[in-house]
Amino acid sequence: MRKYKNQQAKQLEQVSCNMCGRELKVENGIVMEGVFPVDIVWGYFSSRDGERHSFDLCESCYERWTAGFQIPVAKGQEKELI
Ligand SMILES: [Zn+2]
Repeated sequence: MRKYKNQQAKQLEQVSCNMCGRELKVENGIVMEGVFPVDIVWGYFSSRDGERHSFDLCESCYERWTAGFQIPVAKGQEKELI
């Protein structure tokens, strides 16, 4: 869950993990720790046609969530991080 200082400029003020509620560290509009941001518009063939859902998970909640997957997360390695 994200809060912005200026809605038009979209300057990030606060990010909270939707699962555990913990506030993540944000400095100068940048999240300073691992975060799993989700922003999806459900498509035509879903039962949520056109609904936009967004949430954030902290890294430990992401680990707990994905640990329950029947098929593990596909992992690779990026050389350059943004
Ligand atoms: Zn969490």
